Amino acid sequence: MTDGIRKLLVEKGKEELEAPWRPYPFTKDKDADKLLNDLKHYPHAFVIACICDRQMKAEKAWLVPYLLQQRIGTFEFSSLCALAIENLKHHMGKPTSLHRFTPTTAKNIHSALALIAHRYGGDASGIWKRKPSSAEVVYRFLELRGVGVKIATMAANILARTFKVKFRDYYSIDISPDVHVRRVFTRLGLMREKAPNEELIYRARALSPEFPGLLDSPAFEIGRNWCRPKKRMCGECFMREECPSASAG
Ligand code: SF4
Repeated sequence: MTDGIRKLLVEKGKEELEAPWRPYPFTKDKDADKLLNDLKHYPHAFVIACICDRQMKAEKAWLVPYLLQQRIGTFEFSSLCALAIENLKHHMGKPTSLHRFTPTTAKNIHSALALIAHRYGGDASGIWKRKPSSAEVVYRFLELRGVGVKIATMAANILARTFKVKFRDYYSIDISPDVHVRRVFTRLGLMREKAPNEELIYRARALSPEFPGLLDSPAFEIGRNWCRPKKRMCGECFMREECPSASAG
């Protein structure tokens, strides 16, 4: 039964990986999404959004680059980089706080901008350009202050799956232990209920060793669309034939 589940998840993951690029709806704001999807001109917007994506709702965190652009009046790298830390804190904090932890996040962004200027000549896409290995990309994100393994692998996964950035390999891109993903893996019988995140991560590595994070998106979509916490729409879920928890009807 697990093999059928694995095949379906891998198939769906590959479908997404091989689909042509199209703008991704990171937020519900089309202008914010336009900035985040413009990896060519504003790769640092993507990096800043990743830095903000902690300790607050993702949709709100991914809005920060655009709201910051509105407050500063530009999002050119040189202008952002020239901002003193106090100015950046001011823009992030007033008139309303852009992040739950604005002072710390402003410090993290300021430090990332300095690193990008120094290490990548002001072009954040240096983090992922020229086909590095997945481990190298994850490592480069980890070098940014405030970015942990979860965000670093999520960033590499989005670059590969959504932006179609080519890496030398995909071994080091793990699945993200998101609440939807955990629920779906549990109901599919792929991990124990309330098991630690490591169980999910290693299960995904065992199921899809060449690219464990490939399973992230199919599981997330199942959880968001059909396998809700209190309601299961098994009749519409593409896992219904294989899932041990599928209910009739
Ligand atoms: S078949 Fe039902 S229980 Fe299984 S993953 Fe799909 S919605 Fe969830």
